[in-house]
Amino acid sequence: SDRISDPHRSEEDAAEATLRPQTLDDFTGQKALRENLSIFIQAAKTRGEALDHVLLHGPPGLGKTTLAQIVARELGVGFRATSGPVLQRAGDLAAILTNLQPRDVLFVDEIHRLQPAIEETLYPAMEDFQLDLIIGEGPAARTVRIDLPPFTLVGATTRAGLLATPLRDRFGIPLRLQFYTPEELLLIVRRGAQKLGFSLTEDGAREIANRSRGTPRIAGRLLRRVRDFALVSGQEADRAMADDSLRRLEVDARGLDAQDRRYLRRIAEHHGGGPVGVETLAAALSEGRDTLEEVVEPYLIQEGFVLRTPRGRVLGEPGWRHLGMTPPQGSQA
Ligand code: ADP
Repeated sequence: SDRISDPHRSEEDAAEATLRPQTLDDFTGQKALRENLSIFIQAAKTRGEALDHVLLHGPPGLGKTTLAQIVARELGVGFRATSGPVLQRAGDLAAILTNLQPRDVLFVDEIHRLQPAIEETLYPAMEDFQLDLIIGEGPAARTVRIDLPPFTLVGATTRAGLLATPLRDRFGIPLRLQFYTPEELLLIVRRGAQKLGFSLTEDGAREIANRSRGTPRIAGRLLRRVRDFALVSGQEADRAMADDSLRRLEVDARGLDAQDRRYLRRIAEHHGGGPVGVETLAAALSEGRDTLEEVVEPYLIQEGFVLRTPRGRVLGEPGWRHLGMTPPQGSQA
């Protein structure tokens, strides 16, 4: 996708590496999560044991990968990363697991997309640090049990609801990430600008923060684009300059992009404000239902633009207002 507000990682986000916080103290926001994690890390270090398995869940771009790396760094152990869709055969997972050093962190992104066979291999590995491998085929096949070094699995998912219960239950430390507040994003934008050696005014930074959909990845991306506009125009990066750049990128005053507005308008104009089922919306917008549920809706719901009801999606009052429309008589907003 080439949407500026797509919270998924893209090629261009290689530039993110420079903005990634390196320590828990450096990590802005998610206060309660950070405090808990810090205690569990200290306890594991004191005991000299592997940290219990950690499940990070929340919308894309909120810092799951960053946190996984920080956990490894704070523990002073190695870090290996893979993802659910990348692991195709049980052997792929076995190769990674048998190469871990004691207490290493193995990060599995999109863990809800693991093949069932691989997921089953993972259960004894997580629980008893044992791997059951099937060697050979047909009647000659036999199972060998391999002892693994104790390790910490850090799983990340945008959809905790899609995880099989036995997998979810094997994570001793489930942590949910929240959207960031404008104040937290302001800090992130300021710090990012500093790291990029880009000077922008306080108002300019605030404008970017307010329009980042509660998401650090989007904040970083908007920051880099505003920096480009500032460089080429030779203007000071103040509020007006940031506003002008973001408008060109079709990011509106509330941080919504064209896709968000299409979604809201669909409910308003074709369904009288709803309720309308998510499948119907997905088909009408030519979007995957998953994309709507994982990427588009969470922020719109948190901001009250849309409500999720048992009978479908309903446009909230702020949604109507944002479209410059008034809810019809009898609408549920
Ligand atoms: P996820 O794995 O949840 O999709 P990432 O961990 O890749 O998200 O984070 C996306 C980017 O946002 C990172 O590269 C980092 O620059 C930035 N980021 C995420 N969380 C924070 C934070 N708390 N403080 C500062 N920057 C952050």
